[in-house]
Amino acid sequence: MDVFDACKDIVTIVVPCFNEEAALPHFYTAVSEVVQDMPIQYEFHFVNDGSTDGTLEILHQLSNQDPHVYYDSFSRNFGKEAAMYAGLKASRGNYVVIMDADLQHPPKLLKTMYERLQESGADCAAAHRVDRTGEGSLRNFCSRKFYQLINAICCVKMDDGAGDYRMMSRQMVDSLLSFHEVNRYSKGLFSYIGFQTIWIDYENVNRQEGTSKWSMRSLFLYALEGITAFSNVPLLLAAVFGLIFCLVGFIILLYILFFRFDKVFLIICLLFFIGGMQMLFTGIFGEYLAKNVAEARHRPLYIIKETNRRQY
Ligand code: UDP
Ligand code: MG
Repeated sequence: MDVFDACKDIVTIVVPCFNEEAALPHFYTAVSEVVQDMPIQYEFHFVNDGSTDGTLEILHQLSNQDPHVYYDSFSRNFGKEAAMYAGLKASRGNYVVIMDADLQHPPKLLKTMYERLQESGADCAAAHRVDRTGEGSLRNFCSRKFYQLINAICCVKMDDGAGDYRMMSRQMVDSLLSFHEVNRYSKGLFSYIGFQTIWIDYENVNRQEGTSKWSMRSLFLYALEGITAFSNVPLLLAAVFGLIFCLVGFIILLYILFFRFDKVFLIICLLFFIGGMQMLFTGIFGEYLAKNVAEARHRPLYIIKETNRRQY
């Protein structure tokens, strides 16, 4: 298996896994059936993102029984973004797919993705989810609002239905890998780097096993990641608001000077309001500064404790 046949395309399937012991065996069987039926060579590259359940044991079993299975295992949970990056870095295929382990990404689309890429010569065939069936209504609402906001203020366009499930050419993967930022936001990067993308619609499927690893808190922090990585509008807003408040303060001062208007409580209220706004925007500055500090540290995105890849 280590020596691939030069005549056929190699597809690497990158799978970030965090506590996926229940879903992994089903995922492996379903995807293997699909790829064995395609005119390609393939390899799985699972990334165990610090799971605390039996995920690593399952990866040991799968890699012992099937030479198509490779894995990296992190020393702790570094997050899905880091796991995807590690998978892309380890991939050898001239095409690379990113897939969730929970079968929410229909394996049968792999065939369509490959065929569409062959026909068109495009660099990316990406799955586009047309609905959000099965997701909580609050999460659904927040997601839609987030994408409206991000598209209004960010320098890249991001689609609500566009996720990480996509087949990419080697050239596109290498471009993604050339971005070394610690605060990664792949949805933004996919759009930022360009390349022709073909969209393939699919209906949302519920998770087969286990539970979603995203809490409202982690989704909020991830959304913040997206905004601060691709937009400076919040900083601009701070400056604009600052200017407006200064002007208002000056006008009130003139009013008091010329008309001796003495509503002490009104001024106290205004002071509180302006103080509050200042604190809010100091917080936004702090957020950008913190991101900058994280990038400047040049820490590794993840630490691999164990792997069955020979070339590391
Ligand atoms: N995942 C990961 N690290 C994390 C969280 C999630 O590798 O810290 C993986 C998870 O195992 C799954 C994929 O990322 O394969 C998507 O996670 P999940 O299904 O929880 O997200 P959702 O579908 O709810 O957006
Ligand atoms: Mg999922």
